Amino acid sequence: MHNKSIIIGTGPAGLTAAIYLARANLNPLVIEGPEPGGQLTTTTEIENYPGFPEGIQGPELMDKLKIQAERFGAEFYTGWVNKVDLSKRPFILDIEGKGKMTTETLIISTGASAKYLGIPNEQENIGRGVSACATCDGFFFKNRELIVVGGGDTAMEEAQFLTKFASKVTIVHRRDELRASKIMQDRARSNPKIEWALNRSPLEVMADEHGVTGLNVYNSSTGEQEWMSAHGIFVAIGHRPNTTFLENQLLLDDHGYIVTKPGSTETSIPGVFASGDVQDSIYRQAITAAGSGAMAAMDSEKFIESLQRVHV
Ligand code: NDP
Repeated sequence: MHNKSIIIGTGPAGLTAAIYLARANLNPLVIEGPEPGGQLTTTTEIENYPGFPEGIQGPELMDKLKIQAERFGAEFYTGWVNKVDLSKRPFILDIEGKGKMTTETLIISTGASAKYLGIPNEQENIGRGVSACATCDGFFFKNRELIVVGGGDTAMEEAQFLTKFASKVTIVHRRDELRASKIMQDRARSNPKIEWALNRSPLEVMADEHGVTGLNVYNSSTGEQEWMSAHGIFVAIGHRPNTTFLENQLLLDDHGYIVTKPGSTETSIPGVFASGDVQDSIYRQAITAAGSGAMAAMDSEKFIESLQRVHV
């Protein structure tokens, strides 16, 4: 099946791109992957998305964006994109169960996934005290004791942010040396609400019927297990952009994020655009992803117009 435009991903970036392209009568086909709605569907209430003064549940916001895109004619297909061939236009997508599809333009909005620890009780308690997003969930822990796991810049930043709400934030890191940049370390070290538990590797999340109660850790200095009490555990061990299916076909940075031209969503391949967290390791907000989705749709529309001018 040949298309003018395909969007991969249905987080805020992909769905906003779909709304814009559908309203421009470009009938986008939107491919919905294994995590429909993206990372927002794993959070509870979103209080910082403009236009919802009372807040809105993550899954509800994503449903609304999808309905809005469908209203203007966007079509959705659920499938896993195994492989893409971006070496020439039309681009070829190999979609599991559906075979090959071709498209004149492609918007990649496959997002990034937070890395989790993979320890017992962790996945079961996401939304019950385990989180990978301080900006999303920090507000729910006013005057509570929290743990942040990780020793990189993200952990420092998340811990710093969480001290606005929490009574105490303990950074749990598996080594005695931090990976974070000096400036971020210094900021965290000078914050009186931040405590340190170095040489501690998380073993198991502890929880009762009300949610998280603490973390079991292995102390590599003493060789002993320890129990650390906490109401919330923020895992900040990095994000992984969902770009493995691209198989080095376009320019990625050292961390695997798609490189876009500054001030645009253009990638290294004309006709391929990227929006949302897959090309943004800094802001990573629903609203910034949605904004870049709109940009990708407009860039894509302009590209299609330029092709039509060539054919006239
Ligand atoms: P990093 O890869 O830099 O750090 C991840 C941290 O998590 C490391 O300390 C690592 O430990 C720890 N870790 C990884 N896996 C595990 C595990 N299974 N169990 C326990 N601990 C684990 O990721 P970040 O997200 O912090 O940063 C990614 C990039 O983004 C960096 O380049 C960073 O500089 C940048 N960034 C910049 C910011 C800014 O400038 N404002 C803010 C946030 C990120 P170990 O050290 O032992 O490997």
